[in-house]
Amino acid sequence: MLFDSFQDWISEIEKTGQMLHRPVLEYEITQKNKKEDEIWEGLERAWKVMKEAVETGLHSDMRSRSGMVNNSGKKVANSGIHVLSAEFSMLVSSALAAKEVNSCMGRVVAAPTAGASGILPGVLTTAQKIHGFSDQEILEGLLVASGIALIIERNASLAGAVGGCQAETGSAACMASGALVYMLGGSPVQVFNAVGIVIQCMLGLICDPVAGLVEVPCIVRNASAAAIAFSAAQMALSEVDSVIPVDECVQALGEVGQNMSTMYKETAMGGLAATSTGKAIAKRVLIQDIEILPDEGNQDQNLG
Ligand code: SF4
Repeated sequence: MLFDSFQDWISEIEKTGQMLHRPVLEYEITQKNKKEDEIWEGLERAWKVMKEAVETGLHSDMRSRSGMVNNSGKKVANSGIHVLSAEFSMLVSSALAAKEVNSCMGRVVAAPTAGASGILPGVLTTAQKIHGFSDQEILEGLLVASGIALIIERNASLAGAVGGCQAETGSAACMASGALVYMLGGSPVQVFNAVGIVIQCMLGLICDPVAGLVEVPCIVRNASAAAIAFSAAQMALSEVDSVIPVDECVQALGEVGQNMSTMYKETAMGGLAATSTGKAIAKRVLIQDIEILPDEGNQDQNLG
């Protein structure tokens, strides 16, 4: 294991004087039994897939068979009504777009899960456009994001089925926010404050996918989690303190997840999935699935 806690990570870099991403890189080298170059190449491939997911979502037709996914990234990108600044709008549309690629069975990086796969691409591509980060700086940010995920996984969870959506989109937002603070030159304390603030904003969020498909509310939650990641990064870099130390925030995340009813852990039995519209969609999707299954007669014909 890399570190048991964020406190351990800080203590290590205080002792060694290393950059925050460096112990994660060394852990990856040992864990995967690979050379440093190979780890960087793997990160580069992941970053390329993230960028492609945003581009695909913004420029291809994103409609799912259920009908619940319908080009929301493009709709925001091309909207004639401007509630948000151009940069904020880019963040929201990019996160929506990348997550829609996942819901339409395209290629994404599950960082940390497929359900939350729009958050890091949305945050990092937007941040690169705004701040002009080099790809190398992004890769170092991805290492910090990975370290954050490993600690949350160890002490709470990264999966909606175990800890609710707070664990899934919440963890992705923690990773993205911490990476962003790091890339912007924030101190380790500021990086971890951003993580603590994100957890405080997302604590208690349930997992309630309509029809059991990772589409609604998952896609819009990716966009809102990306927005929380940005705002938490701004707060942390402005010296706003999470007050509750990040490791205690993670403990709270785990405790809330453990006590959350199974209705709200990807079972599609509660929340939005259990609304009358949610149930009607589930029924329609089930009928569609039955209709596309080959019947026995056809199977016999094919075999015969
Ligand atoms: S609602 Fe559940 S399935 Fe959807 S993103 Fe959140 S955790 Fe994942």
